[in-house]
Amino acid sequence: MPLRFYNTLTRREEEFVPLEPGKVGMYTCGPTVYAPPHIGNMRTFFFSDLLRRYLEFRGYEVKFVMNLTDVDDKTIRGALRDGVSLNEYTEPFIDDLFHNFDQLGIRRADVHPRATHYVPQMIDIIRRLQERGLAYEAEGSVYFDISEFPAYGQLSKVDVSAGRRGERVAADEYDREDVRDFVLWKAAKPEDEQVGAVWDTQWGPGRPGWHIECSAMSMQELGESFDLHVGGVDLVFPHHEDEIAQSEGATGKPFVKYWLHGEFLLLEGDKMAKSTGNIFNLQDLVERGVKPSSVRYLYLTAHYRSKLNFTFEGLAASAEAVRRLRGTRNRLREHPAARDPDPADTPTLHTAVDEALAAFTAAMDEDLNTSVALAALHRLAGAANARLEELGARPISHAEQAAALAAFERMDAVFGFIGLADGESQVDEGLATWVEERIAARQAARKSRDFATADAIRDEIAARGVVVEDTPMGARWSLAS
Ligand SMILES: [Zn+2]
Repeated sequence: MPLRFYNTLTRREEEFVPLEPGKVGMYTCGPTVYAPPHIGNMRTFFFSDLLRRYLEFRGYEVKFVMNLTDVDDKTIRGALRDGVSLNEYTEPFIDDLFHNFDQLGIRRADVHPRATHYVPQMIDIIRRLQERGLAYEAEGSVYFDISEFPAYGQLSKVDVSAGRRGERVAADEYDREDVRDFVLWKAAKPEDEQVGAVWDTQWGPGRPGWHIECSAMSMQELGESFDLHVGGVDLVFPHHEDEIAQSEGATGKPFVKYWLHGEFLLLEGDKMAKSTGNIFNLQDLVERGVKPSSVRYLYLTAHYRSKLNFTFEGLAASAEAVRRLRGTRNRLREHPAARDPDPADTPTLHTAVDEALAAFTAAMDEDLNTSVALAALHRLAGAANARLEELGARPISHAEQAAALAAFERMDAVFGFIGLADGESQVDEGLATWVEERIAARQAARKSRDFATADAIRDEIAARGVVVEDTPMGARWSLAS
């Protein structure tokens, strides 16, 4: 069965055929590094991580590029407000982003280009557009002339006739109704100078518009034509429409073969937005005791093109599912195995393994149908539990055990939540060892009547979110809720 994706460009599900057999070039619009990412942003990054992992599962050699928007209206505004340079402003948000990725098991891209490092490539594209009569200067800025590019609107299907010839928009973000010539290069303003976001060009000092950044970074890293472009559904217009116009306008070649867009996340039924304060970061959840592995599982329960309603009830159910699946994997791993088992015993798990892997692949091939693929893993776990129960104390055949464990591992190489939960429990165990050791040190300090040290150790333990209670049976500890 072929792998199929829903392509926003054609509004159809299509068989995936990469430009070069066996290889995939893939670009995701990364975050604007001006705020910590919320769990809605993280859903998009999780989606590109899932896509990349599944392409690798299918044997493709993937080059995955995710940019960091470190110069645009928002970052400049932030740097100005904090009275720091653009670099000083964005750096902590970049560190925080990668910390969020690590916590959620989102693997780093092969390249994370920063817009500020690709300005010469942006200038070059703008120069080519001008040479081809697709861009014009106005008051030190350069704009894309959409009336000269008949294919404008092909991705977003916006009504181009609604745009009035020669009218311009200089903001990085604008509405779907606002079909006008968009800015490629912005003449420097005093605030740009103040934060060090100015480059000298043939058009005078200035800085790039947001859309040109992605055209430059993606083509520099993946070539003028590449396979997959991913982003949130809110980027279809104007951002991705403008990327196509810039890239195809400059090169005369098709830019991207498949456009994939991930849907929004709702928080208890409402759209998450910074503007309304209805918002959660991963850190907020972790502070409430939520394990990132259950967030990852929850993301998988909805198709990427559907809105996902994020609820604490759903999160609790996800945590339980992760616990059960990982528990089964652990029991299977720990069950004694024999190289030459009882000849009267039928190793029934082999069939379940084959069926699960086939069902998983078929579901994921169908535009990454993760909820159906998850059901395949649950069925395998059910079969494994039944098999272990049937065996009781008898050993399992080594080959049967290895096949079932390999199937868990293969599916989790894509899903990623069991591996993530393994890491989380190691942290728990590490914490437990540390707390026990500190409690013993505190007891010793008290015994020698060094109460200052004992109190200092108690504070040190409390700082890790652990509450110690002294009982007649000795000290007991628990995680603060
Ligand atoms: Zn982009």
